[in-house]
Amino acid sequence: MTDQNDILFERARAVIPGGVNSPVRAFKAVGGTPRFIQRAQGAYFWDANDKRYIDYIGSWGPMILGHGHPAVVEAVQKAVLEGFSYGAPTEREIELAEAILALVPSMEMVRLVSSGTEAAMSALRLARGATGRKTIVKFEGCYHGHADALLVKAGSGLATFGNPTSAGVPPEVVQHTLVLEYNNLQQLDEAFALHGKDIACLMIEAIAGNMNFVRATPAFAKRCRELCTQHGALLIFDEVMTGFRVGLHGAQGVLGVTPDLTVLGKVIGGGMPLAAFGGPRAIMEQLAPLGPVYQAGTLSGNPVATACGLATLKEISKPGFYEALAKKTRTLVDGLKAAAAAEGQPFNADSEGGMFGFFLMNELPQNYATVMTTDNAQFNALFHGLLDRGVYIAPALYEAGFVSAAHSEDDIAATIAAAREIFSKR
Ligand SMILES: *Cc1c(COP(=O)(O)O)cnc(C)c1O
Repeated sequence: MTDQNDILFERARAVIPGGVNSPVRAFKAVGGTPRFIQRAQGAYFWDANDKRYIDYIGSWGPMILGHGHPAVVEAVQKAVLEGFSYGAPTEREIELAEAILALVPSMEMVRLVSSGTEAAMSALRLARGATGRKTIVKFEGCYHGHADALLVKAGSGLATFGNPTSAGVPPEVVQHTLVLEYNNLQQLDEAFALHGKDIACLMIEAIAGNMNFVRATPAFAKRCRELCTQHGALLIFDEVMTGFRVGLHGAQGVLGVTPDLTVLGKVIGGGMPLAAFGGPRAIMEQLAPLGPVYQAGTLSGNPVATACGLATLKEISKPGFYEALAKKTRTLVDGLKAAAAAEGQPFNADSEGGMFGFFLMNELPQNYATVMTTDNAQFNALFHGLLDRGVYIAPALYEAGFVSAAHSEDDIAATIAAAREIFSKR
């Protein structure tokens, strides 16, 4: 065995369940050996065999500037020398909070945490605490981290309460979670008609990135807002993926819909463990130490992570940043579509800002069930074909893709050419 990835995977599996610290990294959906990354720079990373890949996962979103951006590296190096963590407040936390609030007008106050899971879980508790209600609404195919109450799939009937998607989650814990079909207006209306007075919040990825890339239709997003307002429920946009990724003002900026609470992560840490949730002052003041809703974190607002996040936000706030990123991403998506069309392959794709998705079918799916009709074998062949050619896309057909500011026109062109070659062999 001379493949260093194989050797590392074997070692990893002996000491880490499945050899990975987050399941999708294991390549279980696509088969083969996960690539162990040894370093990254700009739009590329290199595996344990020193093979270079054009990186379209960007740590699943955070690396919007590309790897090793000089301004970010400098900020982190400076912060490290000042200390790793104090467990006491710092000025940089205020600066980051101010920067986030300036970019997301629906947020008047924000609390910093360390992961998207933690932020979504805390937003949920806050929504329940602030409304005094139990029921939560989520959509099939949307991922909000791995808090118990959110690991739910749809029940058997229309607008019924869900079943746990993980062992270790007692049914009692998800008995207040309603799981609805994404973009299904009728189900949404019915759920609020039946349960409206008990609904604490509706949580949604308004541009979903955990069932590949599926947009809420404008009518659906608007209806979510209307129903929440009518019934006194809080609308929570989980923008852990879309925040500062689909545009400077997130999916709420793209859709023109204002949520009550916003959950952020990924890009705001620039690759460091950092996430946040926030909203109107009156709701946020329900949090400890001011209010009765408990939430805390030893490493929350970590000084190195906030330095990394602040430096990242500074770069992406520069004029023209998203226009250039969106154009590049669109070039990739259009090029892939043209390559598939030229080879007579069923294909469609979509993008917003620096986030994209593609589908081995002619129509853009509107919900999770349709995404999951994708031909697995065809996707896996494309994935491995690209990987062999030095292009690293998400190793599962239900994940979105990410372009960074560091991707060059040549990188995009090479990716399209690699895809076309694979399509031509079908
Ligand atoms: C990644 C993600 C999360 C979870 O964030 P972690 O930092 O992995 O815990 C939650 N919601 C959405 C929409 C995500 O994409």
